[in-house]
Amino acid sequence: DNNRFQAIISHCKEYGFIFPSSEIYDGLGAVYDYGQWGSELKKNIKDHWWKSMVQMHENIVGIDAAIFMHPTTWKASGHVDNFSDPMIDNKDSNKRYRVDHLIEAKADELEKEGQQEQSEILLKEMDTLLAANDFDGLKTLIENNKINCSVSNTCNWTDVRQFNLMFSTEFGAVSSEEEENKIYLRPETAQGIFVNFLNVQKTGRMKIPFGIAQIGKAFRNEIVARQFIFRMREFEQMEMQFFIRPGTQKQWYEHWKAERMKWHLGLGIPAEKYRFHDHVKLAHYADAACDIEYDFPIGFKEVEGIHSRTDFDLKNHQEYSKKKLQYFDNDIDPATGKPFGNYIPYVVETSIGVDRTVMMILSEAYEEQDLSTDEKKDSRVVLKFPARFAPIKLAILPLVKKDGLPEIARTIMEDCMGHFRCFYEEKDTIGKRYRRMDAIGTPFCVTVDHQSKEDNTVTIRYRDTMLQERIPIDKIREIVLKAI
Ligand code: ATP
Repeated sequence: DNNRFQAIISHCKEYGFIFPSSEIYDGLGAVYDYGQWGSELKKNIKDHWWKSMVQMHENIVGIDAAIFMHPTTWKASGHVDNFSDPMIDNKDSNKRYRVDHLIEAKADELEKEGQQEQSEILLKEMDTLLAANDFDGLKTLIENNKINCSVSNTCNWTDVRQFNLMFSTEFGAVSSEEEENKIYLRPETAQGIFVNFLNVQKTGRMKIPFGIAQIGKAFRNEIVARQFIFRMREFEQMEMQFFIRPGTQKQWYEHWKAERMKWHLGLGIPAEKYRFHDHVKLAHYADAACDIEYDFPIGFKEVEGIHSRTDFDLKNHQEYSKKKLQYFDNDIDPATGKPFGNYIPYVVETSIGVDRTVMMILSEAYEEQDLSTDEKKDSRVVLKFPARFAPIKLAILPLVKKDGLPEIARTIMEDCMGHFRCFYEEKDTIGKRYRRMDAIGTPFCVTVDHQSKEDNTVTIRYRDTMLQERIPIDKIREIVLKAI
């Protein structure tokens, strides 16, 4: 629900996870900065993905390609011609909309009013018109359904037109008039992998099937971008392109669909929070595609896409660059008894947004708890992150600022800070310090008190249960390491 969503956004800002970009200048639309704890959370998520996709697969390697690429890349990939969304402007309100978002919102509204059937008809009509690129038809559909009309029921729309989502800039110190100096900020990381396909295959001596993975920034000039870090103009992707023998794409597509769902369930998120959504209208490069959707507080929405991209990208790069992008497969084809030989590999891609994963982990972790007893009212906000994603793993808290307790706490800090992120704090009451750690999702707090001086023990307090127990100081590191 929307209240929960708004509460999470406020919490992220108040506790140093995510700030609007350039906030002192009133922000920049759909651009966000990760603060001290958000950046740790995001890094932990990226590390986890890298570990499970690269480190745990002998046949997958990583790269880190540049954001700027030769402009012909985007001609070959189809992005110059096809990477656009139909949009429409309302002349009365001066607001711009993505046509599909506008119609989907109306369909949602109809469904909420109990008009299930009308809602479905509307969506079907939209799909047909979109697939046929029938812009006049889309405009008529919007008008006939009185979408976003004023009280007098009149609408004043512009024509529907295509809007390319790529950002461009000029390269080098040359006049901006010339089209050929135009360069794009990459709208996806995948192309950096395709253009390096042979470099990696040859130098890494990779044998098909194999994958190339990458984590990096991507940029899209999204038309409607009002959903926090769900739809940003600058965001990060974690992508893996898996190169395969032509004809095996169906099998690998199913394989990666299953693998990626397993990864999601491995985050500790229950299965009913996920669903697959198969694409009916396929992107210009795909022969099969689906999304993994997560049940965000704003409803089921895409976090990851799995696409069978055929040889579309490599074939086009070969054509535009005039460089052979082929692979020699010396495995024996059982049908002919001869090697499979030269071919342009097919590709199955898994592409997940870092920021949408952050939003998913945050939505899953955020909990407002009423802890009131008969004596007093009490509550807390706790982020129940899996320990491996928590920005801080261990808070070390001397009960008082004297009697040698800070010194003991400092030795614990020194023992642990080389192994995982720790946080030392001596201000405020212990209760307040615990609540602050709950609010940023720290799974363990240890409190050093006077007894610690006598018997080398501390109190460890667990975030989720709030239970406390006495443990020896020299066991702290081991307990935390085991949990993460
Ligand atoms: P959508 O339909 O939501 O615009 P998409 O289908 O265009 O997304 P892909 O091109 O498949 O997205 O990109 C792969 C992943 O990159 C998405 O699943 C999503 O997690 C992430 N992503 C795409 N666009 C954005 C964005 N504007 N902001 C944040 N993440 C994004």
